[in-house]
Amino acid sequence: METILFLAHTETDGSVAKPALEALGAAASLGESLPGSKLMVGLVGETIQLAADRIATCGATRFLGVAGAAFASSRYATDAAAAEALAKAAQATLVLAPATSRWHRALPGVAQRLGGRADTHVTGISGSDGAISVSRWYYRQRMEGTLRRAQRPWLILVDPGSQQPWQGDAGQASVEAVAVSLPDNCQRTTVVGVREPAADAQTIRPDAHLLLVAGAGWTKKQADGQAHVKEAEQLIFNCLKLARASLGSSKSLVDLGGEGQAVLSFLTHLNQIGQTGSTPRHPKGLATCCHGEEPHTVGWRFIVERRAINLDPNCGWARGKADVLYVADAFAVLAKVNQLLAAKACGIVPV
Ligand SMILES: Cc1cc2nc3c(=O)[nH]c(=O)nc-3n(C[C@H](O)[C@H](O)[C@H](O)COP(=O)(O)OP(=O)(O)OC[C@H]3O[C@@H](n4cnc5c(N)ncnc54)[C@H](O)[C@@H]3O)c2cc1C
Repeated sequence: METILFLAHTETDGSVAKPALEALGAAASLGESLPGSKLMVGLVGETIQLAADRIATCGATRFLGVAGAAFASSRYATDAAAAEALAKAAQATLVLAPATSRWHRALPGVAQRLGGRADTHVTGISGSDGAISVSRWYYRQRMEGTLRRAQRPWLILVDPGSQQPWQGDAGQASVEAVAVSLPDNCQRTTVVGVREPAADAQTIRPDAHLLLVAGAGWTKKQADGQAHVKEAEQLIFNCLKLARASLGSSKSLVDLGGEGQAVLSFLTHLNQIGQTGSTPRHPKGLATCCHGEEPHTVGWRFIVERRAINLDPNCGWARGKADVLYVADAFAVLAKVNQLLAAKACGIVPV
C-alpha cells in the first residue's frame, strides 16, 4: 500500500504556485487509481497556512508542514533537511513534487539520505493495475521512456506544464508542524537579495500562450542590401509586449551575440530553443526568420500549434515541421501583426 506525499514549497507571499498545483493534480489522481493508498501533503516555506488552506479539500489524510524564516529562500541545506523530515514523518513511499529549480537542487540528495530513488523531468504518472509507472523524455525529447521502480521511497519531480493543475475548493486545513534538526552549517549560505530583470524586460514567460521565435534572418541583409537590426529589435519587442508572448531564439542568433555582432539587445542564451537549448511548452509557436533545422525544431516538441514565417518556401518548416508556413517577409508581417494587436488593445476594429 502506497503512501503518497505531495511535497511543495510556498511562494514569497505564502501561496502555492501553478507547478505545485499540477504536481498535486498528479498525486491526487495517482492516489485515486491506487486502492488503499493514502495521500498526504508536506509544505515548506516561511509561512504555509495560506497554501494549506488553498488545497484543504484535496483529500489528503494529513497536512504536514515545516515553516519559519530559515525556510523562506531556496537553500540546499534547509530545503533538504525539511523535505527529509516531512518524508520521514509521513512514512512516504512515493513523494511527488513540482520540478522547480528549488526542488531540483534538493530532492535528489534527499532520496540519497532516505535510501530511495529520484526521477526528474517526469511528464506522466500512471497507477493502472496497482503498478506505478512514470514517463519522461530522453535524448533532448527525441524518445519517450516509461519506467517502474521497486525501490521506495521514490521521489518524483513532475515537469511544470505537463499536468492539469488541481482545481478543488479552498478550505481550512489543520497543519501538523514537523520539527527539523538543522545542521550547524545550514546558515552558511545566506540570501542577501534577488537580482532580476524588470518585469517588462523579462522575455522568457513559461505561462505565455504564444512562443515567438526569432532566427538569425533578422540580422541578415534584406532585399535593399542592408541589415535592419534596430528595426527588427523594435518589431520583436513590440510583438512580445502586445501579445504577452515568450521569446525564443535559434542558436545562430544567440551565437552571433556571443561573437560581438549586432543582435537583439534583450536576447540571451537562455532564450535558445532546441537540442542544446530549451524545450518549452506553449499552446502556440510562431517562428520568424528561422530556417527550421532539426536541431532547432526538436525544441518545439511540446508546442501544440506551430507556424513559421520565412522567405524561403523550401525552408525546414516546409518539411512537415510547421502546421502553417507563411512564405513572406517577416519584417512586413510583424509590422502588420503589431498594428492589428495595438488596434485590438485600444478597442479599434481595423478595416
Ligand atoms: C550539435 C548541434 C546542436 C545544435 N543545437 C541547436 C539548438 O539547440 N537550437 C538551434 O536553434 N540550433 C541549433 N543548432 C544549429 C542549427 O543546426 C541551425 O544552424 C540553426 O538553428 C540555424 O539558425 P537560423 O534558422 O536562425 O539561421 P539561418 O539558418 O541562417 O536561417 C535564417 C532564415 O531566415 C530567413 N529569412 C531571412 N530574412 C527573412 C525575412 N525578411 N523574412 C522571413 N525570413 C527571412 C532565411 O530564409 C533563413 O531561412 C545546432 C547545431 C548542431 C550541430
